[in-house]
Amino acid sequence: MDLGLNGRVALVAAASRGLGKAVATALAEEGARVAIFSRQQEAIEAAAAEVRSRTGAEVLPLAADVNRHDDLERVVRATIDRFGRLDILVNNAGGPPPGTFDSLSEEQWQQAVNLTLMSAVRLTRLALPHVRTQGGGRIINLTSSSTREPIPNLLLSNAIRTAVAGWAKTLATELAPENILVNCVAPGRIDTERLKELDQANAQRQGRTAAEVRRANEAAIPLGRYGRPDEFAAAVAFLASDRASYITGITLYVDGGKLASIV
Ligand code: NAD
Repeated sequence: MDLGLNGRVALVAAASRGLGKAVATALAEEGARVAIFSRQQEAIEAAAAEVRSRTGAEVLPLAADVNRHDDLERVVRATIDRFGRLDILVNNAGGPPPGTFDSLSEEQWQQAVNLTLMSAVRLTRLALPHVRTQGGGRIINLTSSSTREPIPNLLLSNAIRTAVAGWAKTLATELAPENILVNCVAPGRIDTERLKELDQANAQRQGRTAAEVRRANEAAIPLGRYGRPDEFAAAVAFLASDRASYITGITLYVDGGKLASIV
């Protein structure tokens, strides 16, 4: 299937590793030019070099923090300066810290709202005028299976990603007349550094090894294993593509069958 991404320009947030880097790679493999950013120049340049060498695509690496509005302005400006257009925005960020209600401070809540919700709102607001110029486009938000099923000890993710899903659903309706499609893609357990760190933290809390935690987690997934970042990224590339022209306002769960609910 030709995804029709040749010549399109994508901006992928938080892409020096993990899901963001995999999404940038998948879009580049399909012919898109991509701007990617994360906080550290060296890390994002290394990621860009990797994406370029795997795909041959044009990749623009930028050092920027999703928490900083001026950084986000600079990233959008640099994307337009370099590529002259913007068709696809992929909102992503590092995950909020683990914790239970009693353990989380007011400041941690504020930081997590900024990181997880407001970064997507702000970047979308900055990117939208350029996407509108193209007469249509895609806004894709990376969220979590926590938007359907709360994850123990990840209270901030459970609470704030649901707000992202509500915002995205509303935005999908508001932007539909302009042919700008807005969707979320929610990972279950995809094998990235972040997941390894979470397994390690859970292992310490439970007095088990990380390998034991992983085995138990995998046993609860019908497909019997963690997903690969490229498997997750393929779902994002599809939603970003011309082939997904009648899909807006959904959350696509990429979870190996883990979520037990029907809807
Ligand atoms: P990861 O930690 O491996 O990668 C996160 C990326 O975000 C890195 O490139 C990092 O440099 C960048 N980043 C972090 N904070 C940033 C900031 N302030 N500004 C700019 N860039 C920043 O995580 P991942 O596994 O790729 O997950 C991506 C997102 O998806 C996270 O929010 C995570 O919580 C969420 N998620 C992942 C899974 C999974 O299975 N991997 C499951 C549910 C949710």
